[in-house]
Amino acid sequence: MSQKLDLELINLTKRYGETVAVDEINYHFSSGTYACLLGPSGCGKSSTLRMIAGHESISDGAITLAGRDISHLPPARRGTAMMFQNYALFPHLSILDNVAFSLKMQGIETAARHAQAGEMLELVDMSALADRLPAQLSGGQQQRAALARALITKPEVLLLDEPLSALDPFLRIRMRAELKKLQRELGITFVHVTHGQDEALALADEIVVMNDARIEQAGKTRAVFDAPKTAFVARFLGSHNVVSMPEGMIAVRSDALEIKPPEGARLPGTITNIEYQGTHVALTATVPGAQEVTALLSDKDFCGNPKNVGEAIGLDWEAGAAQALAG
Ligand code: ADP
Ligand code: MG
Repeated sequence: MSQKLDLELINLTKRYGETVAVDEINYHFSSGTYACLLGPSGCGKSSTLRMIAGHESISDGAITLAGRDISHLPPARRGTAMMFQNYALFPHLSILDNVAFSLKMQGIETAARHAQAGEMLELVDMSALADRLPAQLSGGQQQRAALARALITKPEVLLLDEPLSALDPFLRIRMRAELKKLQRELGITFVHVTHGQDEALALADEIVVMNDARIEQAGKTRAVFDAPKTAFVARFLGSHNVVSMPEGMIAVRSDALEIKPPEGARLPGTITNIEYQGTHVALTATVPGAQEVTALLSDKDFCGNPKNVGEAIGLDWEAGAAQALAG
């Protein structure tokens, strides 16, 4: 594994007047990682990304790429490139010229920059549409053009701010598979900002969960999902129940809950809702302390032991399936 193109955030801080948008965050992105910054609106994701890109000044701390301090370099000299949420394509330029734009700024002559732009359009499967204007493209095609435009500078790190949010749900799922494929082929680091947990789980090798200007938890995607450390992370990732037990607060995955007789089960409860979800059945119950938990049962398990709303049940899980939470 190449260590030389690692991206590092060191005590990175952004203040806008009185607002602390990013509060002394530290993170090490290994070269070639697909990382997602995940968190609710306003937690500081875009500010972090814009500081990495150089579109926003940093208030404190530093950013290094390949061990080189890039904190104060202009965007074009950092080895990073940004793809914006609204794509920011120039409406009066053809797709080819949009993609070639940054090369024009570097003074590269027309034939050479068109040749390189053509290669980039081929990479994103857009060669046939090179002469169109942005308004003549669908949302998905505009997104590909924006990707080609960001990649033409041969960045070591591609920064993507909510790149799929302008697409309809069907296209979003298709484009997310294409992003993942592109990242694998290029082998460069992608840092992708999203507030969608599904998107982050589907794409990321590593997730960085942010909350209120800080990193709440970060690491390999599966490790974070399997072992959330705080109630915030468990709730934000979804598919977890956060429950206060006499011995403390825990998170237990919906698919780890088993339905048992009430006697002897860890949690006695009363069924309040049963929702058929095709392959699964989501069974919701109230448990002591007026808390609600949801068990996700396979359709087969539910049909083998059918239940009704109002029935008393016990909810149980295997030792080790519950995560102790801090806060
Ligand atoms: P996210 O991308 O996670 O939604 P942002 O990084 O955009 O969050 O914003 C983090 C915080 O900083 C928010 O409280 C937001 O209102 C504030 N903020 C963002 N940009 C500016 C700005 N240019 N001026 C003042 N406050 C800002
Ligand atoms: Mg944002």
